[in-house]
Amino acid sequence: MIKIKTPEEIELMRESALVVSKTLGMLASEIKPGVNALYLDTLAQEFIREQGAEPGFLGMYDFPNTLNMSPNAQVVHGIPTKDPLKDGDIISVDCGALKNGFYGDHAYTFEVGEVAPEIKKLLRITKESLYLGIREFKTNNRVGDVAYAIQNYCESHGYGVVRELVGHGLGTKLHEGPEMPNYGKRGRGKKFAEGLVVAIEPMINKGTKRIKQLKDGWTILTADGQPSAHFEHNVAIVNGKPELLSTFQYIYEALGIKSNEEDEFRQEKIKL
Ligand code: MG
Ligand code: MG
Repeated sequence: MIKIKTPEEIELMRESALVVSKTLGMLASEIKPGVNALYLDTLAQEFIREQGAEPGFLGMYDFPNTLNMSPNAQVVHGIPTKDPLKDGDIISVDCGALKNGFYGDHAYTFEVGEVAPEIKKLLRITKESLYLGIREFKTNNRVGDVAYAIQNYCESHGYGVVRELVGHGLGTKLHEGPEMPNYGKRGRGKKFAEGLVVAIEPMINKGTKRIKQLKDGWTILTADGQPSAHFEHNVAIVNGKPELLSTFQYIYEALGIKSNEEDEFRQEKIKL
């Protein structure tokens, strides 16, 4: 179901988005070779609760942890383990939180130590495709306009765009309408309206778009074993234009990265 948000509800959703953004920022300085995902998961759980929020994924559909942590060939929905991260790995971290009755849902693919140039490129292109998609999220555009922008850019680099998993509307439920696929045709699908809030989240594979699922019933990985990247932002339509509610700036601050990639999507100044 699609539920349009009032300006007051969007402000509450900004708070929820900031909880998950700060959580990924906290994790950014902890992710390094030798650390394990289960340890990072316990840090995130405490950190979310300290901010007056509840972990959004813990127990949802019986998921056992706070974070989805998907290293290397895992696409999404990985279950945190005690396996230490290795130099050259990547790990996609997806974080949900519930505050004031609204969900934040945010993901970033981190580099562990020194990562090969062709994998760095996969991360860069996937993140750039996220912003190309966000730019199309405005009144009178349609789901297909966002989807096409992401698909076209990633496929032009030879990457596989995952079909089976999609972005979504966001609000008092983690998954609301509309579905926001990362592939599609311009001018097709539901029309966007003022006050709509969605999670846009390209899941992009270095090789084939095909995926498989582990017997744990959760972990999705690439069919060819090549790496996969995942970046997710929460975006509202405000004054007809895309307004970012989540931010990667806490991550960049922790990693010492300077970036103005979010500036054009920020009508409201956030205080770091
Ligand atoms: Mg997510
Ligand atoms: Mg999501």
